Amino acid sequence: MAGIRFNKQKRQLAFTLFVRGVVLGLLAMVAWFGLHALPDTINPFSPVELTSPVGPLTNVKLRLLQPRYEACLATIKRRGMTIERAEISSPLKGCGMEKGVKLTKAPLIHGGPLDMSCGLAAALLIWEGQVVVPQADDILGSPVTRIRHYGTYSCRNVNHAKAGRLSAHAEARAIDVAGFDLADGRRVSVLKDWGKDTPEGRFLKSVHDDACRVFSVVLGPEYNDLHKNHFHFDMSAWSACK
Ligand SMILES: [Zn+2]
Repeated sequence: MAGIRFNKQKRQLAFTLFVRGVVLGLLAMVAWFGLHALPDTINPFSPVELTSPVGPLTNVKLRLLQPRYEACLATIKRRGMTIERAEISSPLKGCGMEKGVKLTKAPLIHGGPLDMSCGLAAALLIWEGQVVVPQADDILGSPVTRIRHYGTYSCRNVNHAKAGRLSAHAEARAIDVAGFDLADGRRVSVLKDWGKDTPEGRFLKSVHDDACRVFSVVLGPEYNDLHKNHFHFDMSAWSACK
């Protein structure tokens, strides 16, 4: 009798384990298909692409891509941009660019080759392609042709102060954007058009606000007087949207 009861218990245990296995397998399948059905903007497992629409996870994905140099290079090259590996050496502690890129050709003109960290290049190209280009068409009715900027690399402290923390520019992780040239000949300037209730003013506000979903730090004219003529975008460890 004891042997029959023991066999019955073993069969019950095997059946319970089988049912649990099937349930777990079904749950895993639902989760896998569910994640793959999620749009890229809210799917934490889809890799960031230059063509990905900007969403709440864009900056998080770019932060994760940033230390993965080869993956970052591949992400940019996959979309036909012309970049090459680049470095800047500096005798000064904390300055210089390691594992950066030289961006020589992109859909928008930058006024010459631009050295920057690979993570910043990926963020900049996403912001230009997914924010600036479509919003210029919508708000200004003319394509943007050129981004005007004050550069990326600069071995200096935050806010050009004599002492204090080094700026993200010291590692070429930042760019200062001053304005845009349009195909119809107009120019949009952060200095002249910011804060105005004009198409140019509304365009600047819109691309500034959406930059906060792409870059880690965004500082504009409302941050302080030093930024009245440009947007500072950077991919440092901090977060700010001002
Ligand atoms: Zn700056």
